[in-house]
Amino acid sequence: MDEQHSAVAAEDENEAAEDSEELEGGQKIYVRRKAEWLQVGHWNKEGLSVEDIDARILEVATEQLKPYIPDNLVDRHPLNTDLHGWKRKEVYCAHKVDNVTTYRCLLAHRTNCESMLRVIRGLQTVVVEVKHPHNADSHSVDSSKKLKHGHISAIMATVKADPSLSSTAIRRQVATSVEVPFEMTRNVQHLVRQQRKTVIASELQGIELDGSFGSFVALKESMWFQSAIQR
Ligand SMILES: [Zn+2]
Repeated sequence: MDEQHSAVAAEDENEAAEDSEELEGGQKIYVRRKAEWLQVGHWNKEGLSVEDIDARILEVATEQLKPYIPDNLVDRHPLNTDLHGWKRKEVYCAHKVDNVTTYRCLLAHRTNCESMLRVIRGLQTVVVEVKHPHNADSHSVDSSKKLKHGHISAIMATVKADPSLSSTAIRRQVATSVEVPFEMTRNVQHLVRQQRKTVIASELQGIELDGSFGSFVALKESMWFQSAIQR
């Protein structure tokens, strides 16, 4: 048995264990689609430096993901352990292999993308494999229920410019650059309230006015203090 196949065998054992757990629970019974790992890179370590190999791994990983990520979904918080937009999932040892590192697509949760990548570092060879390779439909469903980065920054800038605007008016203003889906109305209202509080608090020197006499006294003292230290 060569080193590559032993790694595959170890993975299959893990999956078999997961399947039986699901069956015992009796709730979530479904047939697991068995997908094959496809080899997309294979190098002999002989004559190649660690950096050379890492560069080739990164090149293959990039090819397997970059063309399938829309610009607005590009990862904004990359980690050192990432491979392009592949997020490290686990590192384990397998028979006759130094280690196996598995990665999930960065849009796995958001788009239910099943694509996976793994790097098998053997004694003589390094192999990269993919399971459920990407295609044009891999990321077509964005199941995120949250406001997108573009929405948030446009809304925050508009509130900052005029905190007295209603969330409907703000939505209308930002619509010229970004369309906010109707089902996110409550998210917009929440964000506007939050941002308005921040803007007003910064204008009132950090004191929150809740209508109580105490809060007005606190503001008055703070304003006196501000003008006193500027004198
Ligand atoms: Zn993906």
